[in-house]
Amino acid sequence: MKTDKLYAQRLDEQDELKPFQEEFYIPEETIYFDGNSLGLLSKRAEHSLETLMDSWKKHAIDGWTEGAEPWFYLSEKLGKMSAPLVGADMDEVIVTGSTTTNLHQLVSSFYRPHGKKTKILADALNFPSDIYALKSQLKLKGYDPDEHLIQVQSNDGNTVETADIIKEMTDDVALIMLPGVLYRSGQILDMQTLTSEAHKRGIVIGFDLCHSIGSIPHHLSDWGVDFAFWCNYKHLNGGPGSVAGLYVNRKHFGNEPGLAGWFSSSKEKQFDMSHTLTPAEDAGAYQIGTPHVFSAAPLLGSLSIFQEVGIDRVRKKSLQLTNYLMDLIESELDDYNFTIANPKDDATRGGHVFLEHKEAARICKALKAEKVIPDFRTPNGIRLAPVALYNTFAEVWETVQILKTIMKEERYKKYENKRGVIA
Ligand SMILES: *Cc1c(COP(=O)(O)O)cnc(C)c1O
Repeated sequence: MKTDKLYAQRLDEQDELKPFQEEFYIPEETIYFDGNSLGLLSKRAEHSLETLMDSWKKHAIDGWTEGAEPWFYLSEKLGKMSAPLVGADMDEVIVTGSTTTNLHQLVSSFYRPHGKKTKILADALNFPSDIYALKSQLKLKGYDPDEHLIQVQSNDGNTVETADIIKEMTDDVALIMLPGVLYRSGQILDMQTLTSEAHKRGIVIGFDLCHSIGSIPHHLSDWGVDFAFWCNYKHLNGGPGSVAGLYVNRKHFGNEPGLAGWFSSSKEKQFDMSHTLTPAEDAGAYQIGTPHVFSAAPLLGSLSIFQEVGIDRVRKKSLQLTNYLMDLIESELDDYNFTIANPKDDATRGGHVFLEHKEAARICKALKAEKVIPDFRTPNGIRLAPVALYNTFAEVWETVQILKTIMKEERYKKYENKRGVIA
């Protein structure tokens, strides 16, 4: 029976990714289901950070070109390591900046309003930072965001329909920017179809992969996506504030970036100190300044785990975990008015389960008190992310039992139904 703990234990015994759990620092006696907000530290990531600190210690300025991992080539090396996760050629990816600064960089490079093509198309459910950035990009070009930012609406408050997005791809749209996986409901957008429909209409399209990278496979180059960007501290376990990543399709190589700096330069020319930029011939051109070496260093270790496991195996276990979680929620929590608000089918479900409940804020507090770490998304959402690399089926089982007790004994009533400063 699925509802027996033994069933979960058997799934764990058969889990081929099991050896990787030991590579991570899991907070003691805690069930950590928040790896889609901040992934856990691995021993490899810790080691790679120490290695780069050691280069500073031993080589000082020469660490740029000497030592175990010369800093001058670190962004490119990490880009190459990330490329398989997004389905790109190695030189189409660079690790640089933050999600939001990369969005600014790419939109200022790819948003070229001309004639009646002046609008940007996004969705109504995206993360606020993306929308703030798009509005400020419009203002910088002299356009009123109220008129020039089109946001595709959701019919159910949680998902957006491909057909509704396509309907908004009108003649006046210059650029489209959408998430690969929606941060609340975990819906996967059909990036392939959206890209081909955008291109039929002469529209440039890019994706924010914050919630999809490290969670689902991508084929950006095959799909012909123009650009993409993501953070590395969620599913990729790069650490708080980890340096982010971006992708530029090679058909756009050779252009000057919208926001240039000396690290946009071709590496051979950079130290010529010329006032005329010769941009790098690859995605490296979208860097701006000196890389944040210590905030990138843990990625050497954490990406090596993904290289070893492969994203297809991560996805396979992730689907098993979220399927099992949904099954148990349906059978065990039937009496307590939870709604599973993420897409349920494998093709459109990302790496987390999204539960809605009117007492969500205080149910999350009660879960935390029992050492289960979810995250709350205002006004009524609970995200639960069992992560393939370090979570177990037994933890999924345990979490549902804990949730059942919290509901049955109304333990959540001890808390105020209000979010904390960070939620
Ligand atoms: C996490 C996340 C961000 C965060 O942006 P930062 O620049 O790293 O602070 C932005 N957009 C989306 C969709 C996210 O999920």
